[in-house]
Order: sequence, then C-alpha cells, then structure tokens
Amino acid sequence: METKPVHFKNVSREESFGYDRKTLDYIRNAAAHGLYEIRGMGAKRKLPNFDDLVFLGASMSRYPLEGYREKCVTKTLLGTRFAKKPIELDIPITIAGMSFGSLSANVKEALGRAATEMGTSTTTGDGGMTPEERQSSKTLIYQCLPSRYGFNPDDVRRADAIEVVIGQGAKPGGGGMLLGQKVSPRVARMRTLPEGIDQRSACRHPDWTGPDDLAIKIQELREITDWEKPIYVKVGATRTFHDVKLAVHSGADVIVVDGMQGGTAATQTCFIEHIGIPTLAAVRQAVNALEDLDMIGKVQLVVSGGIRTGADVAKALAMGADAVAIGQGVLVALGCNGETYYQNGALHSAEADYTAIGAAAGFCHHCHTGKCPVGITTQDAILEQRLSPDVGAKHLRNYLKTLNMELTTIARACGKQNVHHLEREDLVALTIEAAAMAGLPLAGTNWIPGQGF
Ligand code: SF4
Repeated sequence: METKPVHFKNVSREESFGYDRKTLDYIRNAAAHGLYEIRGMGAKRKLPNFDDLVFLGASMSRYPLEGYREKCVTKTLLGTRFAKKPIELDIPITIAGMSFGSLSANVKEALGRAATEMGTSTTTGDGGMTPEERQSSKTLIYQCLPSRYGFNPDDVRRADAIEVVIGQGAKPGGGGMLLGQKVSPRVARMRTLPEGIDQRSACRHPDWTGPDDLAIKIQELREITDWEKPIYVKVGATRTFHDVKLAVHSGADVIVVDGMQGGTAATQTCFIEHIGIPTLAAVRQAVNALEDLDMIGKVQLVVSGGIRTGADVAKALAMGADAVAIGQGVLVALGCNGETYYQNGALHSAEADYTAIGAAAGFCHHCHTGKCPVGITTQDAILEQRLSPDVGAKHLRNYLKTLNMELTTIARACGKQNVHHLEREDLVALTIEAAAMAGLPLAGTNWIPGQGF
C-alpha cells in the first residue's frame, strides 16, 4: 500500500536550531560571494558577563558609608614596579587604545579633552600619535603594535607610558585592519601606506617570537625613556593565566587584559564571535597569575572588554583589577548607534545614512566602511564634521563622571572608603557559569563551581 507524506501543521514550520535563519543567511552569503564577513564593534552573542554578578552591600555584618558626607577615594596609581614616573590618575577608568584612522582626528581630540578633564588617560592605537591627541591629553599612553605604523622614538619620549600590544580581545591572534575607504591622505602619510588601499597589519611583532624577546624589547623601551615611563603589556584574553605570568617575567609594569567582548574597528566576524574568552573569566585568571607570582600591588592590572557601567567598573575592581579601559562604551557616549547627530547648533536625523550602509541606529557595526552616520569612525571630510571635539568631549566627560559616581556609590554601600578596597568577598554570582568563571560563590550558597582551577 502506498503512503503519502504527512506534514504536521506547526511542526513543519518549526525553525531549525542548528540551521536557523541567521545561519542560512550566512551560508547563502558565503556561497554567493566566496568571502568572509568583516565588521566592527565586539561580540554580539550572549556571554557570561559582569551583569551575572551582584554585590553584597553592607547590612548588619558590614557598615556602609554615608554617600554625601564620607569620602571615597578613587585615586589610581599604575606602573609602580620599575618606572620612575608612574601614572597617577584621579579615577580608575581609562580610555582604551583606538587608532587615528579608525577614528577621526576630531574624535581623538575629544577623547583627550574629556580624559584630561576627568584626570584620566587616553591611549593611541595603530598608526601612531596625532599632534591633536598629544596636545589635548594630559596623560597619553602610546601603543607599540605589531605593525609599527607611525611608531617612532620621538613619540615614545613624548608619551607618558608605553603599551606593548600583543593582542586584542576582539581578535587574539589576528592583526589590525583598515579598509581602503579609511586610508585618507593623512592616514596614509602617517602609516607610510598608499592611499585608498586596504591595510592589514601584522598579527605578531616582527622582532620577537617569545617572552625572552619581549623582555629585550621592554628593556630597549626603558632605555629610550630613561626608565621613566611605565611599560604596559596588553594581551587578548585566551590563555590568560600563562600569558600574564609571561608578561610579568618579561618585565611589564602593568598588564592590560582585553576580554572577548572588546571591540574593534574592523576584523572578521569569525574572530569576533569565536576566538577568546569572556572578560569575566579572564580577570580571574589574570588575578590568579599575579597572586601566584606574589605580584598583587606590584604589577597593576587593567581590564577591558565590555565595561559599560559604573557597576561593571566596580565589579572588575572587586575581582582584582586596578583600573579598567573602555572603548565601545566611549563611542556610544559620543553618539555611536544614535538616531541623530548634532551639528551647527541643531539635531539632524542620521536615518538615511544608516540605511545607505545597510544598518539602522541600535544595530550598526559598520565602522569598517568609513561611512559612520554619526561621524565617529570615519575619515570622510563631510561626515567627520558631525562630531565636533567640543560636543564629543562634553558627552564623554558626562559619561565618565557618571561611571565614577556609580562606582563610588557602590563602594560606599559596601563600606569602602577607597574604591580599591572593593574585594572578591563583596561579590556573588547569579549563574553557575558566572560562578565557575569568576571563581565566586553562587548567590545564597558557599558553592564555587570548578574550585581547584
Ligand atoms: S554608528 Fe559609527 S561608530 Fe557606531 S557602529 Fe556605526 S559606524 Fe561604528
């Protein structure tokens, strides 16, 4: 007897988990173009993060501080191990390295102005130091990247600290990328590259293949700067426990750990979403490494990758960071993904410009195109006018101020007179995953999953 196929009404329309519409689109695009996707910003997938932790505020067993009458210190010292002139900051919230090229010169100036007003540091990026950012930044960290574009000893001496970049959280093991549409005449001159041609930076430093060579490089940088400037080493979070130990052995004063939520101006999506470990896991590994070497308080730890709020800052500090660095949050404060931009005293809609690049406010990750609708990640002479240094600096200052107020509010609620007194004992985790990664007890229990790491 012949049987006819039966289609159950709702089940036949069920979306596949493994081959959902996003995956189908990905495969169709790959089949149509034979190319991988390149985009900006950070991981979009849901990852365990600082939202999965909460503070145990003071109650009977702890004594809270009065918010309006009792001080809470935020001063932060970085680079106390070997440098004659450590970095002194008013707040433990710094601006992460972002290049001129990925950002406009106006934005670099705005970052410097806001950081200076708030008593914190900003950082260069691939492609060297611009006069605008040096002039506007009281404390400027100068990055030494694998590409060495625009890197020179004069700027090393002009900087306040040097950051040797081994890797970035958005793309550990990968190099920088600046697509041709952003390689303007000025960017090309600074990087000694041809105009308008895609630039792909090296993924590793040309003159070292391991920690011993890094130690020599750090020694060279110290001699160029007469042992005055702190040397930071920045790693993308992967094997963080071992990487931090090796960076300490190589002579770093400060370690910067950038988790996989960290952003980028451009890289392959497969890097952003599939390489690296979440910041939450990386902080714990970094702190464990410093503890193992008895280097807590001697080598400082800066954490970046998905720090957005004052609560995130407080949690990073409680887990053992000395400071945080922020990139994407800073861009959002400047107007990234906003519906409007402010120019010539009036608000203008950016909707048509988002549509033109296939994006929309709130969903944009198109920094690589150079056509940023709000004038942040662009070298276009017309678009970059959409964000003036004045307006950018004002918004960024407000954002940093808010984060710092939230940080001190939380610290006081935990009974701390100094934000650096926040400690792991102040935190618990809300999920088993976060508890295991952060090495903290699950809320309401003494259970730390995976204890014995
Ligand atoms: S709005 Fe500009 S800075 Fe923000 S994601 Fe889009 S292109 Fe990048």
